[in-house]
Amino acid sequence: MRPVLLAALAATLVITAPATADGVPLGRQVLPPNDGWAAAGAGTTGGSAAPRENVHVVSTRAELATALAAPSPKIVYVRGRIDGDTDDAGNPLSCEDYVTDGYSLDAYLAAYDPAVWGRTTRPSGPLETARAASAANQARRMRLKVSADTTIAGVGRAVLSGLNLQIDKVDNVIIRNLTFVDAADCFPQWDPTDGAAGNWNSAYDNVSVTGSTHVWVDHATFTDGANADSTQPRYFDRPYQVHDGELDITNASNFLTVSWNRFADHDKTMLIGSTNNPANDRGKLNVTVHHNYFRGTLQRMPRVRFGQVHVYDNYYDVPGSLSYVLGVGVESAIVAESNVFRLAPGVTPDEILFDWGGTMITARDNLLRTGRHAKPVDLVAAYNAAHDPDLAPDAGWTPTLHTRITPARQVPALVSRHAGAGR
Ligand code: CA
Ligand code: CA
Repeated sequence: MRPVLLAALAATLVITAPATADGVPLGRQVLPPNDGWAAAGAGTTGGSAAPRENVHVVSTRAELATALAAPSPKIVYVRGRIDGDTDDAGNPLSCEDYVTDGYSLDAYLAAYDPAVWGRTTRPSGPLETARAASAANQARRMRLKVSADTTIAGVGRAVLSGLNLQIDKVDNVIIRNLTFVDAADCFPQWDPTDGAAGNWNSAYDNVSVTGSTHVWVDHATFTDGANADSTQPRYFDRPYQVHDGELDITNASNFLTVSWNRFADHDKTMLIGSTNNPANDRGKLNVTVHHNYFRGTLQRMPRVRFGQVHVYDNYYDVPGSLSYVLGVGVESAIVAESNVFRLAPGVTPDEILFDWGGTMITARDNLLRTGRHAKPVDLVAAYNAAHDPDLAPDAGWTPTLHTRITPARQVPALVSRHAGAGR
């Protein structure tokens, strides 16, 4: 796009971009003071200070990729729907278009069936090599890196489908008012050594934050759309997982605020910390998770290792099966307050927490909602009554970086109405 036209479009956006009551365009807004861990230190300003020539408006994958590679500070406004699975001319690509070197799922299943391959070593050989080469073709379309001092904001109803945004080893990024849909992996990898029964693993989160600081993800929606994990087949008696996380925060990332988002219809929702090895993550992974609406999500809301993670004012509405809500992992220090849990009949409050090797969690002022009625629930007492070893009821720190904590009884109405893109 020519610079003159771009400037004209940007000028239009100053008028049409979503604005707060005080009239600041979305891309020019910064994280409010004290609004969670992303407010630590210098705070999070993204690309709000971008000069006019660094304001981009994109509506195709090619335009998005070009804008993301442009100089910072920058604002990238997304208009309409962008599909990652397209070529540079905008033509749609399918999984078949990425296949190379003779890969097929049928051949892969035949080669690595535990009855043939066994369960003690990971797949290797020509078909695994072909799978990896095919996956690399898809990754070149799916994965887009986000540089430092950047704001990516949707204008109106903006959708990023089949894309994995990677915020990798950078500081100061804001993502707002975007709907992320279905970052499905065409080539899941079988790992018979993962867990007791093996697992199918997929490569793509919707948003991956790795080794990065000062990131604010706000008013976004995450969903698998029509491609729910629950509709996938089972191979080798394990679910054929085509999705990874919706928003995964790993590799010594620090100082994030995840606010007013909608996480919907997904299995592995939000992972904070991907390894029990403390070498890089200890003292980091500090994240605030507030006023999010989790609906129909199965686990990791979030699952935490190492970090001091403040989880408040979230509404967990899980009408179907639940694995767990909060994963208490190694050296994690979660403070969970004023959250509301609405669980399916037969799901009991001791299932809200899961111990992944942690020892402690602070939980207060949380509510369990049944029908229209809500009653206080002591998450730690419920967990300890049903499981061993017990969790200590004190995470050992008190959050100071937060804005007003909404009383839990107001959370379902407030959050279901205002969390997510376009709200
Ligand atoms: Ca992940
Ligand atoms: Ca116990």
